Amino acid sequence: MKKILFIKNPIYLIFLASFVSCIFLLLLYGTIKLEKNITHKMIDISTFDVMSIANNNALFIDKALETISSSYVKEIETNVNLRAQIEKNLSLLLTSNIKYAYLIYKDYRGVFRFLADGAKDSEKAFLNQKFDIDNPKWLEIFETKKPLTIDHGYSHQILITYLVPIVKNNKVELILAVDFSIKKIEDINQILKLMKYAIIIIILIIVIFLILLIVQTFKYTAVKKTAYTDKLTGVYNRNYLQESESFINLDEYILATLDIDYFKVVNDTYGHDTGDKILTQIAQSITSTIRLKEDIVIRYGGEEFVILAKINRNDNLSALNVIERIFKNIQEKKFQINNQEFMNITVSIGVNLVPNKSRNFTDAFKLADLALYNAKSKGRNNIEIYDERENKNNDLSISINEIKDAIDKNQVICYYQKIVDTKTQEVSHYEALLRIIDKNGNVILPEKILPVIKGTFILRNITKSVLKICYKKLQENKDIKINLNINSKDLTDNSVLQILKNFALEDNISNRLGLEIVESKDLLTSENAKENLIMLKKLGYKLFIDNFGSGYSNFVYLSQIKIDYIKVDGSLISKILEDKISFLLVKNIVEFAKEAGIKVIAEHVSSKEIYEMIKLLEVDYSQGYYFNIPQEMDK
Ligand code: GH3
Ligand code: MG
Ligand code: MG
Repeated sequence: MKKILFIKNPIYLIFLASFVSCIFLLLLYGTIKLEKNITHKMIDISTFDVMSIANNNALFIDKALETISSSYVKEIETNVNLRAQIEKNLSLLLTSNIKYAYLIYKDYRGVFRFLADGAKDSEKAFLNQKFDIDNPKWLEIFETKKPLTIDHGYSHQILITYLVPIVKNNKVELILAVDFSIKKIEDINQILKLMKYAIIIIILIIVIFLILLIVQTFKYTAVKKTAYTDKLTGVYNRNYLQESESFINLDEYILATLDIDYFKVVNDTYGHDTGDKILTQIAQSITSTIRLKEDIVIRYGGEEFVILAKINRNDNLSALNVIERIFKNIQEKKFQINNQEFMNITVSIGVNLVPNKSRNFTDAFKLADLALYNAKSKGRNNIEIYDERENKNNDLSISINEIKDAIDKNQVICYYQKIVDTKTQEVSHYEALLRIIDKNGNVILPEKILPVIKGTFILRNITKSVLKICYKKLQENKDIKINLNINSKDLTDNSVLQILKNFALEDNISNRLGLEIVESKDLLTSENAKENLIMLKKLGYKLFIDNFGSGYSNFVYLSQIKIDYIKVDGSLISKILEDKISFLLVKNIVEFAKEAGIKVIAEHVSSKEIYEMIKLLEVDYSQGYYFNIPQEMDK
């Protein structure tokens, strides 16, 4: 398993190599530090004895001069015996390691001169011979008046000068200097050196390996990228699919296949090169429509594309909307043939909404392709959806494609239910309720329709159909008012809003068309939806809050948008006679609404008893089976 990880992802190897070279760098640093430490220890040990002897010698000179009141330098210059004695003592210090021992002073011009030298006669420095100091550290002794060690760097051996001051009247008169050398312990030195070189070589090897690895990784990804990219269109090719099939999680996507309509004709009319150009433009249109980080586009074959649109957990079927946008954008785009000519192209799309129900990608693909085939056979320029339900003959259930067809074939209709003035029982409004007549003539109810298309563009198309039906009804009957149900998604959809804006341009339409909105989280959190509601109200539309008290009711909302009507949820009204809480809730809603200047409608008024209670509570309007069941309007 790990092996595969390394091979598939060389980044891990790069990390490992970097880590190892860091460890070796630390080792190198440690070795250098160790070498320095050992050297210092050796110097400490070796110098200790030399220093003691030199200090004793300086003490001797100090003692010998103790009684002298004139300058020490003068005394030693003139007193031959004393100088001979001092030089003899100095010569006793010399060994094979201690090369020189001498006494010097600094004259009035600041020049250092010899006063006594322990060397053999043949090498001995003259009295007052100039002595050139090679290190400014020498001068420090005049400040500190303390013994001082000067290192002369180390190669094979370490050279050290040890200086002892001889002080008179708190002034350094003379300096006793001892030059000695310490041989390094060659063996240790050798081992340390070897270690150092070995580590440097290992680091170099790792670094070279690392560089090669990085270069290879870049090459590998570049090759991989070209191998997985379609040369003509720049989208993924089939190789990518083969490689990634195993790790594309079908739970996360819907799968669509897209085929250009009558592409052969394009090739035959304008030539293959133009065909290629169109193909490239189609791919561009698709990639500019998808959500780049989420959706995947693959050129599957000649002029067929596969699109994997990611399912968004919060927005159930937004993926299908991506497919619709791809479809629409291609439909609206002008494709360039040459500098002067443009043409329209259409595509057919098959969508598999449930690829996770298939065993593997190939099976899921087949189902999308089946839907594509249906789209083609229905005349092309079409989206067809594969939906499991399609094949089950469940009574009074409807498939997504049947809903789509119903919209196209004007099989979407409205039933109407009266909303009456509670006191007079006169009709105040009609609520338009969605129905679809299926191919067997059955009337399908919204609870069967809406869950199937929830969140898709088809729901929006249904809203648009209902809007048109209501508009027509209002035009035919100038004295009625109609409410329709609109969902929060519609309130942020430009095409729906445009229709409502257009209606408002006509006399006496918007003030007779009520919008019933079920409160939802979306509506509360979307500034856009709120702004649009305010805009619609300005256009003259009356706003109804539907199913109030059914769970999501939020009074905050009422303070943000001036609502005209509250429709108290049917579940509260049905229980109003036997359930105290329901009764109190309704009573409070009515009182609150009266104060706020909002009218109240009771839904599900199904019996005379409930109606009497509603009247008692002074609910403004009522709706329910007690007055009529939803039906086609005979007007
Ligand atoms: P349909 O609406 O049924 O899809 O009709 P169609 O004409 O598109 O028919 P079909 O899908 O069977 O034919 C696809 C054509 O696409 C055939 C082939 O010449 C053309 N084609 C396939 N790959 C390429 C390509 O890379 N470049 C060009 N220019 N044409 C291609
Ligand atoms: Mg085609
Ligand atoms: Mg309603």
